[in-house]
Amino acid sequence: MAASPKAETRGFETEAKQLLHLMIHSLYSNKEIFLRELISNASDAIDKLRFESLSSAEMLGEDTEFQVQVDCDKDANTITISDNGIGMNKKEVISNLGTIAKSGTAQFLESLTGDQQKDSQLIGQFGVGFYSSFIVADEVEVITRKAGTKTKKAILWRSKGESDYSIEDTTKETRGTTVILHLKAEEKEFSENFRVNSVIKKYADHISVPVKMEKASSPSEESEDSQGEVEYETINDANALWTRQRNKIKKAEHEEFYKHITHDFEGPLDWSHNKVEGKLEYTSLLYIPKRAPYDLWNRDAARGLKLYVQRVFIMDDAEQFLPLYLRFVKGVIDSNDISLNVSREILQKDPVVDSMRNALTKRALDLLLKMRTKKKELYNEFWEQFGQALKEGPAEDFANKEKIAKLLQFTTTESKNSKQEEGLDEYLERRKDDQDKIYYIVGESLKAAKTSPHLEIFRKKGIEVILLHDRIDEWLMGHLNEYDGKKFQDITRGELDLGKLDEGDDKKNQEKKEKKFVDLISRIKALLGERVKDVRLTHRLTDSPACLAIDDNDMGMQMRKIMEASGQSVPESKPIFEINPDHPLVVKLDGEADEELFEDIVAVLLGQANLGDGGELDDPSEFSAKLNKLLLKIN
Ligand code: ADP
Repeated sequence: MAASPKAETRGFETEAKQLLHLMIHSLYSNKEIFLRELISNASDAIDKLRFESLSSAEMLGEDTEFQVQVDCDKDANTITISDNGIGMNKKEVISNLGTIAKSGTAQFLESLTGDQQKDSQLIGQFGVGFYSSFIVADEVEVITRKAGTKTKKAILWRSKGESDYSIEDTTKETRGTTVILHLKAEEKEFSENFRVNSVIKKYADHISVPVKMEKASSPSEESEDSQGEVEYETINDANALWTRQRNKIKKAEHEEFYKHITHDFEGPLDWSHNKVEGKLEYTSLLYIPKRAPYDLWNRDAARGLKLYVQRVFIMDDAEQFLPLYLRFVKGVIDSNDISLNVSREILQKDPVVDSMRNALTKRALDLLLKMRTKKKELYNEFWEQFGQALKEGPAEDFANKEKIAKLLQFTTTESKNSKQEEGLDEYLERRKDDQDKIYYIVGESLKAAKTSPHLEIFRKKGIEVILLHDRIDEWLMGHLNEYDGKKFQDITRGELDLGKLDEGDDKKNQEKKEKKFVDLISRIKALLGERVKDVRLTHRLTDSPACLAIDDNDMGMQMRKIMEASGQSVPESKPIFEINPDHPLVVKLDGEADEELFEDIVAVLLGQANLGDGGELDDPSEFSAKLNKLLLKIN
């Protein structure tokens, strides 16, 4: 169809073009989803109008029966989806349909791999919405009239989904939006009533608005009354899913409903549906997605639940009902206690919302806990996607610290692979009889943590140590002091005290050695001076000659790097140099008469200790020079 002369043609942005192209190709194997997206939009538009009409009833006029209508036309090869919802004015059409690029599109496009299967999941996550029409259509027309505006104020938007779209004024008798898809020749199936009927039923059963299609008439009726009015029938259940009885809802229905509210491509990992009665009355339906969204780390990204009050849609992304660290939870909340004309500002101050938030937070944590106890494989999947966000929990939500700690997963020295699948309860179950602490180490990477010399004594004594290496870990541990009455202990901090785990003989032996090496320690201290905070004998090592420890209150290396990288000033702190009295090099060092040799060995030991913890050398060339000098002394 050629655009009429008064039509204005506008281009999509470059990124939008790219996205459209990719989407059409990647989603081809799932092409029916355009129906879900368009019906979802129509139902959202009706929800919005229903909400607006609470304060301005005149917007509805006489047309008070909300509905979505789907018409198939085999001869014209079209499918048309119409709603009597809120509609759009010109400005809204341009900004809603002319802009595909949401924040982060460029970044999103970069993350595509070229692998169709993977990319289609990514695109699904990104939310393809209205543009999925172009998977099956080679031209799309949208005729829309905003509720409360005049017949002549309607807008016609048209595009072939290539590089541009046209927009012009038109007339429309009724309010709302009609989307006409001119199907590609090979997509004829979507112009057939019976085919579309079954697809829509699947996508629309849980939507509270009736979706109507032409009634399939029997051949006899057709011949008798072929000129008569077309009869429509409602083809979906038209009951909001969350209002139904919990045990009557099937898994497939949850999957569809979840996709409807999130625009996700895949179903959810797990969910929790609850009706609360008593002082507060509300229904909540919380979903845990399968995959982290591309913008999980964007603090400004929209998050939160879809809020309904007495089954009337109020707003999307009501973020007041869950804390930030649970931002990945999706779902619906339908309250009987919140006022219908609530705003975001009011929500923020409402004590009812506060108590709901507390209850919903618990509900979400309980859902995760149940998943962890009963469906460990699923929980491992969850952890891989969202564990990092959950680790923000202990700092943000003091009241639920213990509960969140129960959900944390780590790699430990007992792990069979590099996955974070061990919890604190499992750690405590396996602990030694006399062990009263939870031991952990924070490294630059899993490998650095795993190979740290600090682990030597723990390996020897068979004590499990948690290996932390995520960016957030040191910060997390700063907020976790104990779990189940056991204190956390960073094994690189302070003087190692294994408590009762150190047998009597070891203790006595250590004291003997302290005496024996008093002079050596003072000599090294004098040599290193200000370069270290202290020099002392270590009991952490069995194989390595030396290591570095951090003083109890000093900042760890990981935190230091994060702060430096973000341009913050970091208070200076020096390491404690610990030497292993059982190592032949240290024994040789004791009483070494050649001062130069002594200095070189100490310098090399200090350098090694630094490297052992994934640190960097102050002066690598000096280190190599000294090492070479020592090597040359080998006969
Ligand atoms: P999303 O629905 O994820 O926001 P879409 O691309 O599907 O993305 O739609 C973009 C916007 O266009 C919607 O947010 C809505 O504001 C508007 N829109 C789409 N379809 C309709 C409709 N049938 N009625 C009114 N507005 C609509």
